[in-house]
Amino acid sequence: MLPLVALVGRPNVGKSTLFNALTRTRDALVHDQPGVTRDRNYGVARPEGKRPFAVVDTGGIAGEDEGLAGATARQARSAAEEADLVLFVVDGREGASALDDDILAWLRKTARPAMLVVNKTDGLDAQAAINEFARYGITDVIAVSSAHRQGIDELIDSVLQRV
Ligand code: GDP
Ligand code: MG
Repeated sequence: MLPLVALVGRPNVGKSTLFNALTRTRDALVHDQPGVTRDRNYGVARPEGKRPFAVVDTGGIAGEDEGLAGATARQARSAAEEADLVLFVVDGREGASALDDDILAWLRKTARPAMLVVNKTDGLDAQAAINEFARYGITDVIAVSSAHRQGIDELIDSVLQRV
């Protein structure tokens, strides 16, 4: 069985775009709404000359327990709980939000190994974007632009060091 890497984060941070960049597919719907993509979407990353790993995209954790948003969040949490590594995806343009704080608190409770992926850093100072999340105390952190494939190879190397 391939190691499993789960993408979690609040809606709209670019999880599906990252899924497509890792799997080199367009299988994940970008722009999806929580409640539309409430299931998990599995794929395989087959980086050239490196070990393959499975990736699961989730519909996002929107902070609600009720209705479709709650169902979506529960799916995301179960995906994380079965993963060998969780990529906690955040938006480098918007910085840390209250919802990110909640997801982090939950992530700590699951005790799954996690890396922080600061996405959407195209055109930004990557280090400054990372510093925005310094108070999260996650030392495994990488800045990427999923949409522009920046930092994706480095992210794959970091993932493969951990799974
Ligand atoms: P998800 O809800 O977390 O799955 O986010 P999506 O992958 O659907 O992306 C949400 C929006 O962010 C879309 O409009 C994407 O085009 C945009 N986006 C995703 N990744 C990047 C990125 O690296 N840079 C920029 N500038 N926009 C991005
Ligand atoms: Mg998505």
